[in-house]
Amino acid sequence: MMDLKTYGYTEIEVIPDGLLPGRVTELRRERFTVMTEQGKVTAVLKGAFYHNAETRVDFPCVGDFVLLHYNDSGDSLIVTVLPRRSQFSRANYSGHAAGYVKTVREQVVATNFDYVFILSSLNWDFNVTRIMRYLTQASQSGGQPVVILTKADLVEDYKLPLAEVTQSIPDVPVHAISSHTGLGLNELALYLMPGKTVVFLGMSGVGKSSLLNALIKQDVMKVQTIREADSRGRHTTTHRQLFMLPSGTMVIDTPGMRELGLFNADEGIRASFNDVEQWFPQCRFTHCRHQTEPGCAVLAALADGSLSRERLEHYIAQQHENKFIQDKASYLIDKNARNKTITIWSKQTKKNRGWKK
Ligand code: GDP
Ligand code: ZN
Repeated sequence: MMDLKTYGYTEIEVIPDGLLPGRVTELRRERFTVMTEQGKVTAVLKGAFYHNAETRVDFPCVGDFVLLHYNDSGDSLIVTVLPRRSQFSRANYSGHAAGYVKTVREQVVATNFDYVFILSSLNWDFNVTRIMRYLTQASQSGGQPVVILTKADLVEDYKLPLAEVTQSIPDVPVHAISSHTGLGLNELALYLMPGKTVVFLGMSGVGKSSLLNALIKQDVMKVQTIREADSRGRHTTTHRQLFMLPSGTMVIDTPGMRELGLFNADEGIRASFNDVEQWFPQCRFTHCRHQTEPGCAVLAALADGSLSRERLEHYIAQQHENKFIQDKASYLIDKNARNKTITIWSKQTKKNRGWKK
């Protein structure tokens, strides 16, 4: 029998007879994966949840502790969500047909985490103001914020920006890391304790996936030296939303959390992508799509190296994700266009390199 404490459970109330506590590790449409002392079960919600559908706040989400009616031959039935000790939610504009009054509903995307890792990259988009904004968001969540400056291998001296952030927020721990070289990762062991849960917050491209991968690998190696035939760490490729690291720490990585990274995204893009946007007014055409248009200043900047392709791709990715929050359908249409654009850039860059030789 698995001890639910492994999943961070602390018995806060008396469990009524016939009910089993568990933690939601995955959520797909209306179906939940819940870890319980009986093992991993799939579960659906009791009808009562839907009667309260106006505010989806009480719907369980990844990270929640729930009580369920266990069913060993089919779906179990979730009857209650236990009180949350921390949570992130986002405004949800979807689900309203045209003609209805548009109301903003709160949608909880992650709960019961201990630490909020605020990731910010040390290279091109280093921005203390943005870190402070994330910090406000994190402290409202109930989790303990930890600032992580990523990609330290890409800057000459990370100690300067590190000192700058540390001075601006003296009460919050700040670490500089590199998921590629492993620099600073050992400092994170402080938070990566068994039974603890961590969420990552940060804009697209800051290195959230890379950090998760680095931690999984590091842990897997650590575990393998201790226990010979451990199978847990080897199945990390399956898509899960609450990851159990072999060290016993959980990481919540849900699409919802990723969208949170985009709050005030419009403002963020304007503030931090001047180096990309400065070229736009110089394009010959006002509505230049920066793909194949003649006289495109962006393509020219790419060709002569004034603008890096990574930077431009990042800018586009950010804008498209931003659109994703506002309108998922148009995001999907745009995604195809975006892939096309990136293909065109690759060709252009290769072609231009060829010319230079
Ligand atoms: P996410 O969108 O926040 O999940 O970011 P990713 O983990 O996908 O990383 C975005 C890009 O940054 C990828 O090209 C990574 O290889 C790169 N990256 C992430 N971490 C590091 C790092 O520590 N050093 C370097 N040099 N690149 C990194
Ligand atoms: Zn252009």
